[in-house]
Amino acid sequence: MIEEIQAKSILNPTGGFLASYTHSLNAYQGCAFGKNSCPYCYVRAMPVQRFSGKPWGEWVKAKINAPELLKRDLEAARRKGTFGSLRIFMSTATDPYQGAEARLKLTREILEVFAESGDFGFLVVQTRSPLIERDIAALQRLGSRVAVSFTIETNREEVRRQITPASPSIERRLATLERLTRAGLRTQAAISPVLPCDAEIFAELIAARASRAIVDTLIDGDGAGGRRSAELGMPQLLKSFGYADWMLPDAHLPLLEALRERIGADRVGFSQEGFNLL
Ligand code: SF4
Repeated sequence: MIEEIQAKSILNPTGGFLASYTHSLNAYQGCAFGKNSCPYCYVRAMPVQRFSGKPWGEWVKAKINAPELLKRDLEAARRKGTFGSLRIFMSTATDPYQGAEARLKLTREILEVFAESGDFGFLVVQTRSPLIERDIAALQRLGSRVAVSFTIETNREEVRRQITPASPSIERRLATLERLTRAGLRTQAAISPVLPCDAEIFAELIAARASRAIVDTLIDGDGAGGRRSAELGMPQLLKSFGYADWMLPDAHLPLLEALRERIGADRVGFSQEGFNLL
């Protein structure tokens, strides 16, 4: 059930984990991928979810006036002289290409607003959804002002089925990453958080399909030294599948090293610095 709402704002000042960005942009509230997937998603513990009255993943609100609000905000930034230095992360608390986007096309319209606005600064589109392929032409119109950060947490399909079963298959996501890169777009594989994987094989698959990568972990990436991941039950979940060692602080290092060897150390980031280097 998608509820269509009129939002009051669309560009929201950001900081913290995304310190090098000026604003976040979420055209949706809630995220359908959260149903039977993404057990580590920190939005589950945020006020937007706590006060929703429904389980995470079972409600989505679409800000149907998002493109109009964006036009307004971009014009305001132009008047203030901040237009060229805008650095926008879409999205921080939802996936801009979740199922509802196929019909509503809010993200597509947002890309078109950015393209028509001129030299606005920089936009990162963060998603795990192959639906982004629909908008390759719109992304291409933004040229070097856009990068796609594409989530893929493991190369092992059985791990995906165990831990994030509602997420698109590994094969499908690798194909999307490849298509985006072949279309000339700046791409980043967001291995965030890294789940049990085969370091050398995974690094090889990523290096052939993305121009850079970021590795994050359930300890470093939750902004609380692993406390939030623990509150979400991730240690117990991993343990239940026999992956307890993957909660150890250095479990990600073989993958990080394998990626740096193949892509180059300057194009493989770790945790917060990885997202902020884009
Ligand atoms: S796709 Fe992102 S926002 Fe949506 S449930 Fe998964 S981690 Fe959370």
